Amino acid sequence: MMHWLSVVVQTPAHSNVAGPLTYRSEVVLPPGTLVRVPLGTREVMGVVWALFPEIPPELPGTGGKPLDIKCITAELGITPLSKAWRQLISFTASYYQRSLGEVALSALPPQLRTLNASQVERRLKRTKLPDAPVPVDKQNAVNKIALSAEQTLAIDQVGTKNGPFLLFGATGSGKTEVYLQVALQVLQSDPSAQVLMMVPEINLTPQLEERVRERFCRLYGDEAVVSMHSGMTNPQRLKSWLAAHSGTARIVLGTRMAVFASMPNLKLIVVDEEHDPSYKSQDGARYSARDLAVYRGKLDNAKVILGSATPSFESWYHSRPAGEGGRYQRLIMAERIGGGVLPKVLTVNMEHQPKKTVLSPPLLAAIAERIARGEQAMVFLNRRGYAPVLHCGDCGWKSECPHCSAYRVFHKIDRTLRCHHCGFTQRVPRACPACGNTDISTIGRGTEQLEEHLADLLSGVTRPDGSPVRIARIDADSTKFKGALQQQLAQVHAGEVDVLVGTQMIAKGHDFRNITLVAAVNPDGALFSSDFRAPERLFSLLMQAAGRAGREAAQGGRSEMWIQTHHPLHPLYLALKKHDYPGFAAEQLKEREMATLAPFGYSALVRSEARTQEAAQAFLTAASAQAAGLADVVEGFEHIILYPAVPMTMQRVANVERAQMLVESHSRKALQQFLSRWHEVLRTTKQKGLIRWAVDVDPLVI
Ligand code: ADP
Ligand code: ZN
Ligand code: ZN
Repeated sequence: MMHWLSVVVQTPAHSNVAGPLTYRSEVVLPPGTLVRVPLGTREVMGVVWALFPEIPPELPGTGGKPLDIKCITAELGITPLSKAWRQLISFTASYYQRSLGEVALSALPPQLRTLNASQVERRLKRTKLPDAPVPVDKQNAVNKIALSAEQTLAIDQVGTKNGPFLLFGATGSGKTEVYLQVALQVLQSDPSAQVLMMVPEINLTPQLEERVRERFCRLYGDEAVVSMHSGMTNPQRLKSWLAAHSGTARIVLGTRMAVFASMPNLKLIVVDEEHDPSYKSQDGARYSARDLAVYRGKLDNAKVILGSATPSFESWYHSRPAGEGGRYQRLIMAERIGGGVLPKVLTVNMEHQPKKTVLSPPLLAAIAERIARGEQAMVFLNRRGYAPVLHCGDCGWKSECPHCSAYRVFHKIDRTLRCHHCGFTQRVPRACPACGNTDISTIGRGTEQLEEHLADLLSGVTRPDGSPVRIARIDADSTKFKGALQQQLAQVHAGEVDVLVGTQMIAKGHDFRNITLVAAVNPDGALFSSDFRAPERLFSLLMQAAGRAGREAAQGGRSEMWIQTHHPLHPLYLALKKHDYPGFAAEQLKEREMATLAPFGYSALVRSEARTQEAAQAFLTAASAQAAGLADVVEGFEHIILYPAVPMTMQRVANVERAQMLVESHSRKALQQFLSRWHEVLRTTKQKGLIRWAVDVDPLVI
């Protein structure tokens, strides 16, 4: 007896064979089965997507010649992927305009593709069965913790309502504890229930992983918690995936990729720091793991909690009162655990400081005061390296990167000029390469220089025991090597550092106990950006940074957040001074509503890369001209706005020219319909010199 299967295999993003391929099988294989199939001269892994009782007549190339259809090679011997998983993959592919094959196969662990059935069998045998869990009554005994009233209320709401939930909780209000408590309830209520916890970047929050393991491994065994993130080796990823898929893992803790983890009995999804831009993928299918988490919650009938002290304005808007159309339940935790108060926000008007002042005297004095008291300070600047530009005053030469539309950054440590976009690195020239002038100087400052400058300015300041001040820097340069970040963070926690200098990397998530001063040296840049989300990101960054300070009640009154600015009266800073996230969000949302920007309007970007800027734009312009032909087939076409092709802000990277075109609509449905039709046009538009193109739906940076 012959059976006909449609099988999804890895296909290029925009290839012609975007849909599943047809194969034969002698046995019935249910949808979701993993198989190996012949493809051209190779054999590849695929996922059975549908099963037909007879040869499907509508498939091209199958008419009358069933024997041309190849037989699958083998079944992999893994329980089929669930219907909900397949629906999630189908939705992702169609919503983000990518091929099903690309999305499905990239959602599976890479190593699986290389294994045959017997190799899979051996690995499955190796996944240990979990230890018998500690009985529920005893579980509660080991988890005794007195919850705050706000925590109790939030947990109660999650237990009794459907969600999705937006947990709007101040930094240090105990959100993580809420996630852990709800997770425990879910695991207790059903012996096979599974929980997915997502974090923006695991490396930045090793504390969370520790807390989850510490809490659950002793109840459910070491095998019950697995991680999933891109820093793992392929064998590790496969092991975690198999554990989640087989149900052995009760908790999966991962980054955005984990939203696709196969979890047959998923009952709860937590998205921690849901505002974080790293939930949006920037290559391949440009999916938002946060948005997909909400969608997946519906498919799997799992509860979803999005948590943040500074929610994305989209989620904030969706959690407005139900009477006004809100779809999420908003849960509020305003109080910090242990009575810590949020730090006082102070601005220094840099207009009143001598030009070129890096650190104003009052800020320096406040830092020195911390050191003398044995407390810690954190100073951040969003630019790594020593100076962003090297420059010759005689002829005007600047350290441009020959391959990118960017300057190469001066790194003093190894005396190099380095491009942060393409990596092009050269030793710093002794004299101006253009005119030979030996007196070349730097413009602007990066963290490396800030660290040096601080050491200089604070050299006379001593710690309570009379020893000299200790300054450390954490940024992408200082943490290049594996384990470096963990080690540096540990030093800060251990109190071996008095002043921590760094990029926004240090402003996120860390729970530093002894920091009583946080300073943003030069945050104004984002105030006047053309990107409408720039103020949201800056506000969130500063709120989060402020949240690093004053977590201990004892430090309460004296913890401070300092902001050096040329615009102290800017509404963003005024809202920040009051820690008024709702006020700032309301004001920004009003502006967005008037301009029909997200979440009131929908957009997509098409980006193209080519040898020349003309070619990159010509491709977009040609595809745009052809879009007019879709007027009759796309419902709501009149609501689609196509903007002209423009160079990207970073126009050239590694000798590749980049352009983009914005598509907007106030109707998500019309935009989706248009994109799926227009995709065909983009795919067939020919342009000499074009390298690649991609569609970014709901882009984060415009
Ligand atoms: P958030 O995630 O909101 O920043 P956390 O959940 O990390 O806050 O809580 C902040 C600190 O307070 C953590 O050290 C945590 O262990 C502690 N904590 C949380 N809830 C409680 C509680 N109910 N009782 C005592 N300590 C708590
Ligand atoms: Zn010169
Ligand atoms: Zn470059």
